[in-house]
Amino acid sequence: MALRIPGHEHQAPREVGLEEIRDLMGNCQLCELGQTRNNLVFGVGNPRARVMFIGEGPGRNEDLQGEPFVGAAGKKLDSLLCVAGLTRDEIYIANVVKCRPPSNRNPRPAEIEACSPFLREQVRSIWPDVIVCLGNFASQWVLKTQAGVTSLRGQLHQVGHFLVCPTFHPAACIYHPDWLPLLESDLAMVGQWLREHPKEEV
Ligand code: SF4
Repeated sequence: MALRIPGHEHQAPREVGLEEIRDLMGNCQLCELGQTRNNLVFGVGNPRARVMFIGEGPGRNEDLQGEPFVGAAGKKLDSLLCVAGLTRDEIYIANVVKCRPPSNRNPRPAEIEACSPFLREQVRSIWPDVIVCLGNFASQWVLKTQAGVTSLRGQLHQVGHFLVCPTFHPAACIYHPDWLPLLESDLAMVGQWLREHPKEEV
């Protein structure tokens, strides 16, 4: 049984393509991260994904290559997707902030606020059934809470249309290997839900 979060009933899908959203961002300088990035990392994956993963922000490799989850965290994510019965082709991945915070510091509230409309539009365009939030920043943004991922994880949250799975960031599990089984168990929960709710053919 998923925990139901009120306050998201106003959300609705939007027939705006991801390319259109990316075009709109252009050479975005809405926050100071725009001044130090190499590449704006918009997102990658299936525009009709049933499952959308949201991370924190680009790291060094992502900033250099312009794609999310290409470094060590990306390798980790690839190996974890099969736990949920998923492949990279089936999912979409984006971050809360699209430009790398210098030295991988945490994104600041003003930066998250400046970048949020773009992520919101991505979610409305993709309109996934499930959102997997990787780490504190994504979990807090989607669930509109200050609570940490440690207390949020371990259950699925119903947020309007979306089933939300807050869990640890794969990069964090590199330094906290004891979190890995917890991340795997959260993804297994997503896999089970997907099996129990097969996509309706249109
Ligand atoms: S982080 Fe987001 S708001 Fe800030 S400059 Fe980059 S794209 Fe624009």
